[in-house]
Amino acid sequence: MPYRKSDIHPEAKSAAMGKVSEEAGLPVTPRPYHLAKMISEAGDISPLCATEPRKLDLKVELWTNRREAVTCKRCLAKMQVIK
Ligand SMILES: [Zn+2]
Repeated sequence: MPYRKSDIHPEAKSAAMGKVSEEAGLPVTPRPYHLAKMISEAGDISPLCATEPRKLDLKVELWTNRREAVTCKRCLAKMQVIK
């Protein structure tokens, strides 16, 4: 499965992080959570705030299906419009 589950299962994230030992101790910059709008056949996620479908760079941004977990201001603004 190419999908990140860290936003759903924090425990799974901890287990996965164990493999990337060189990242230990580095400051964690908060990455914005976009609302996933579309998914490509390759498993790439395009966020709600993209005017044209684009691939998310998971090094600097994340996505979620849970509206209450979205932190991207542009996605939040679009969610307001949709409501
Ligand atoms: Zn967004």
